[in-house]
Amino acid sequence: MTTLAPESLGYTVRVAEVIEETPDTSSLVIDVPDDLADRFTYRPGQFLTLRIPSERTGSVARCYSIASCPLTDDRIKVTVKRTAGGYASNWLCDNVTAGNDVHVLPPSGTFTPRALDGSFRLFAAGSGITPVMSILKSALESDAGTVALYYANRDRGSIIFAAELADLETRYPDRLTVEHRLESESGLPTPESLASFARGGEDSDVFVCGPAPFMAMVKGTLTGIGYDRHRVYIEEFMSLDGDPFAPIQTLTSGADADSATVEVTLDGDTHVLAWPADATLIDVMVNAGIDAPYSCREGECGACACTLTEGTVDPGNTDALDPDDVADGYILGCQATPTSPALKIEF
Ligand SMILES: Cc1cc2nc3c(=O)[nH]c(=O)nc-3n(C[C@H](O)[C@H](O)[C@H](O)COP(=O)(O)OP(=O)(O)OC[C@H]3O[C@@H](n4cnc5c(N)ncnc54)[C@H](O)[C@@H]3O)c2cc1C
Repeated sequence: MTTLAPESLGYTVRVAEVIEETPDTSSLVIDVPDDLADRFTYRPGQFLTLRIPSERTGSVARCYSIASCPLTDDRIKVTVKRTAGGYASNWLCDNVTAGNDVHVLPPSGTFTPRALDGSFRLFAAGSGITPVMSILKSALESDAGTVALYYANRDRGSIIFAAELADLETRYPDRLTVEHRLESESGLPTPESLASFARGGEDSDVFVCGPAPFMAMVKGTLTGIGYDRHRVYIEEFMSLDGDPFAPIQTLTSGADADSATVEVTLDGDTHVLAWPADATLIDVMVNAGIDAPYSCREGECGACACTLTEGTVDPGNTDALDPDDVADGYILGCQATPTSPALKIEF
């Protein structure tokens, strides 16, 4: 495997096992050494970012959602489905075997329930099951959560985690229902089938992961039948272009005449920082020694989403946010630069 530059961010961890889930999907089960256990605690729905070697570019970075359950599974499992013509997913499925090392960034992401003991309506299509599986297992483990999963696939052979889901349905007959929608038998998901599955669950938290048209159909259908759009959470799978393993820019200039002042609240602590006009919020926070949440640093993953409550910014690339998020004041810390002298931001 490619040797990494010593200044790269991230950690090297060992793959303990590779599981062939379906003909085109493999899980990597990762052993986290004891001294990294704190750094690799995760919430259901979060993802790891893997560095994949490339002779052409040195490496590429790709995010993979964690399919294991933080409450019950000792090891972290990510599940990779081959993308037709894709580079990293095929490289991982073709090359990684038990005992190999992989280079990763710690768990990150905001596609995660605030509490596990409520009612959940989950919607997944294809490899979109990975973060949803972690949420599903965690809610069942919480003793009180109830879960209904709508899971769309091409055909029976492409259902990832089919046996595990069937086993969970047997173990939790009163708290878990799974509706499989197979294109080979019933066609693609329709608004009617989604609405009929969703009716009666209007007070649920909704987590949706799959291809963009599927997620748009779920969100549109649910809000159309009375679900609160603020409780419909979406995780979009896309490939990163940049290198999130490159070190964070060191800010040498500090405060200057163009700097704004930002009051930023994270985990209950408020920090007042000088924010140079050409630096991103994440650069400023990391340079100030704050353990800010971020991952891809190109506006694609949403790990650094926060709310602007005062002032204005140039938001940069906001691909990870949907228009509703932007209307609600969300920005991305890895992209935003200040355009007013005083700002307040909450994570
Ligand atoms: C938050 C998040 C969670 C995700 N979770 C999952 C998950 O659980 N499971 C899953 O399967 N996917 C997941 N994804 C999607 C995953 O990150 C990748 O987008 C997906 O695997 C496709 O990547 P790919 O490289 O195979 O395909 P592509 O990105 O389509 O590959 C083509 C790209 O690779 C470049 N390329 C081609 N050859 C080379 C080469 N030799 N060297 C360098 N570059 C090359 C091309 O220029 C092109 O840009 C997730 C994405 C996100 C953002």
